[in-house]
Amino acid sequence: MINNPFQNAMKQLDNAAGIINLDKDIHEVLKSPDRVVTVSIPVRMDSGEVKVFQGFRSQYNNALGVYKGGIRYHPGVNIDEVKALSFWMAIKCAVVNIAMGGAKGGVIVNPKELSEGEIERLSRGYVQKIWRLIGSDKDVPAPDVYTTPQIMAWMRDEYEKLAGYPDPGVITGKPLGQGGSEGRSFSTAQGGVYCVEELVKKMNWKPEGTTIAIQGFGNAGSHMAKILHKSGYKIVAVSDSKGGVYNKDGIDPEKAEKLKNDGGRLGCYCVGSVCNVEEMKTDGPCRAIDNHEILELDVDILIPAALENVITAENVDRVKAKAIVELANGPTTPEADVILKEKGIVAVPDVLSNAGGVTGSYFEWEQNVKNEHWTEAEVLEKLEKMMREAFDNVWETKEKYGIDMRTAAFVVAVERIAKNIKT
Ligand code: GLU
Repeated sequence: MINNPFQNAMKQLDNAAGIINLDKDIHEVLKSPDRVVTVSIPVRMDSGEVKVFQGFRSQYNNALGVYKGGIRYHPGVNIDEVKALSFWMAIKCAVVNIAMGGAKGGVIVNPKELSEGEIERLSRGYVQKIWRLIGSDKDVPAPDVYTTPQIMAWMRDEYEKLAGYPDPGVITGKPLGQGGSEGRSFSTAQGGVYCVEELVKKMNWKPEGTTIAIQGFGNAGSHMAKILHKSGYKIVAVSDSKGGVYNKDGIDPEKAEKLKNDGGRLGCYCVGSVCNVEEMKTDGPCRAIDNHEILELDVDILIPAALENVITAENVDRVKAKAIVELANGPTTPEADVILKEKGIVAVPDVLSNAGGVTGSYFEWEQNVKNEHWTEAEVLEKLEKMMREAFDNVWETKEKYGIDMRTAAFVVAVERIAKNIKT
């Protein structure tokens, strides 16, 4: 497979291991997940027929605490992707210094083709297959691409039925009022915003006038666009899986989202998507762009917020952004990283810049196990402190060794994990 995400992840590990002369036994341990399960999930479809879906859970490492990581519903899910994502979760938790390990789950499915009832049965069916492996004291799933707070609520319910006792901390990203935490719905984006702010300080830029393009308009990308817009940054391009829009004068992401949801149309915003390219025939300052073009715009900050392997050896030469802040997991391949460094483009890596999501989840889990409820202000105060500290730590490590920020983040994380592995 081209750009196998697990091979990419192992290359990133090797880079960090080389810098710190990592003990070779520990390096060896970190090359494999503790456990990967593959499950078949039979689902009664609305038509009456049974369809069997394939699902995975990879528990990579729990040296720092319970396994932690989301569940992805996507047609492109595969075992190497899930393994890579679970490894990145272990690194991510260590980068922000939370006492959790790394895991990830996935189901091969296009949820857009399923009814709500079918998604509920699939989600309950997935838990029926993995419930003995999870729990607030073992492995704590969460949302990821195309999974929602509602899905988390169904999964919690199914788990508690099977286990026979309440365990709200078995899963995070739940709806508010059903064990969810204030702030969790936008904590991935908020954490990314703190990283953008720190980066902008390091670059001696000002928020006003800093131009930003965001690929992906899901939970992470849409919240990121809205928060940055409110703080004065100029969002010039957004896109989703169907296409995107560029406006050199700036885009109001609230409007883009509203029009996407309502199916309305105004100026350069389009129907049924951030932009339906087919319908985009305007001569104004805006133009329709596709998901590849958005990566090649001449902007200050490019934020990939969709899927992995979008900045590769093939297109990295055409990337014109001055900096990249990764909100997706694994958007940049190791080959592309080398070229970004040569070109002097700073890339704030996923394991740091999207760690606000799992940090929010950690707070949710902590509230659940302690039976507490924190205010949004309390959650954000803690999140801000942890994210800014993590950024500083990674930046200092980058300066100390003269390495890129990704390798620096891995160095910080691997040192913390290694201390807790006995060989
Ligand atoms: N899916 C998110 C991530 O990749 C959040 C994981 C979590 O909250 O456990 O970081």
